[in-house]
Amino acid sequence: MSASTITPWVVGNWKMNPMQADAGQLVQNLKKLLQDQIIAESACHIGVAPVSIALLNVQAAFKDAGRQILTVAQDLSRIAGTGAYTGEVSAELLKDSQINFVLVGHSERREIFAETADIIQAKVKHALTAGLTVIYCVGESLEQRENGQAEQVVLQQICDIASVVEAEQWVNIVIAYEPIWAIGTGKTASPEDAQAMHAAIRLGVSQITPAGQTMALLYGGSVKPENAVELAACPDINGALVGGASLNAESFYKIAQAFANTK
Ligand code: PEP
Repeated sequence: MSASTITPWVVGNWKMNPMQADAGQLVQNLKKLLQDQIIAESACHIGVAPVSIALLNVQAAFKDAGRQILTVAQDLSRIAGTGAYTGEVSAELLKDSQINFVLVGHSERREIFAETADIIQAKVKHALTAGLTVIYCVGESLEQRENGQAEQVVLQQICDIASVVEAEQWVNIVIAYEPIWAIGTGKTASPEDAQAMHAAIRLGVSQITPAGQTMALLYGGSVKPENAVELAACPDINGALVGGASLNAESFYKIAQAFANTK
């Protein structure tokens, strides 16, 4: 399998949105679009990451979508198992509720919630041990990019988790490259810059594991229907992690369609 034959992933990160009624409407609107024109599962994995209290409702609501819509947790505890850890949701509890995917390392968690490399490492380790697939987010700040450190920062973020990933677990990791300066700002990395970083990530991961050759590498940062086709045309961009535009069913559907049709 070459990078160009990797099935793309389009995942909507709903962040701390929306209220229940709007979430229900969003799911119904997306199902309607898929009913009118299905996107084959073999053409694109599609997933959504709602707030934790909505995970099970959203999962149930997509059961009759006519295709699999993955339900992705936005976060998990750095502590494994069960126990006296008020407010936490562990990898095992997610798995027990058939939530098989989780985001780790999102820049908002790194920055706003002060998640260090150690915390992120623990989360990745527990998620993989419990049998979850991890969508691991990496990305540089504007300052780091302007100082020419973007690639070094991103590759270091990958090295940060390498020591806790067993050889056979790499196939359960998807990497999302999200330049921090492009998240929620309306600024997107140019397809050339995004492709260059994705190629560097693929090379870096391939030096750690052969799974690097077939790993899906998603781009995130103000992806919209208007820029999805040109991003999808880049050989090492195998999908998108979509924030703002995933809260509109039509925009999200069009992004998934762009990746399904272009890849
Ligand atoms: C994100 O936060 O994962 C993201 C990519 O957000 P946006 O699409 O809104 O930039």
